[in-house]
Amino acid sequence: MSIRPDETDRAAAEFAERVRRNQQQLGSQLRPQYDFIVCGSGSSGSVVARRLAENPDVSVLLLEAGGDDDVPEVMRAEQWPLNLGSERDWSFTAEPNPHLNGRAIPYDMGKVLGGGSSINVMIWARGHKSDWEFFASEAADRRGAISRSSISIGA
Ligand SMILES: Cc1cc2nc3c(=O)[nH]c(=O)nc-3n(C[C@H](O)[C@H](O)[C@H](O)COP(=O)(O)OP(=O)(O)OC[C@H]3O[C@@H](n4cnc5c(N)ncnc54)[C@H](O)[C@@H]3O)c2cc1C
Repeated sequence: MSIRPDETDRAAAEFAERVRRNQQQLGSQLRPQYDFIVCGSGSSGSVVARRLAENPDVSVLLLEAGGDDDVPEVMRAEQWPLNLGSERDWSFTAEPNPHLNGRAIPYDMGKVLGGGSSINVMIWARGHKSDWEFFASEAADRRGAISRSSISIGA
């Protein structure tokens, strides 16, 4: 059975609405204490919080310094450059670099729900086999290159 695009859109919209309602409800009932508090809702913090929350016996609070990601500049991928320098960007500046003729270049980082994944370019790059082999050897991971070669890095 094939799923038509409009059905997929509707299902995605319904899921987003359920998430929104759930977050509103949970956010309005904050507890005085939690078993785990995860700081930062970027790619890594979100995964950590999600994995912890799989255990129904523990309570998890995910704290984010930035604001909501439910804005067109985040939801519409082609608008990603509009996030740079906005309130969704920490707008750091790197140290002056002698290898860049002394220039201090802008260093954008996400300050919003989703962190960098909400403001990034969504370029998807396949990791080089030798890098995965190196990570595996550093971690003493003896699993074969077959599984690692199918892993990709992406936003
Ligand atoms: C402009 C831009 C373009 C990019 N393009 C790509 C791309 O095309 N492809 C790709 O693969 N990667 C890209 N990246 C990189 C990718 O987005 C990051 O590697 C990834 O998001 C890092 O995730 P993270 O969880 O480690 O950190 P972050 O995403 O930086 O998450 C950290 C989170 O912690 C929050 N935080 C910080 N301090 C506190 C505090 N004290 N209390 C609470 N919260 C706090 C921050 O606001 C942020 O939300 C891009 C990044 C940027 C900024």
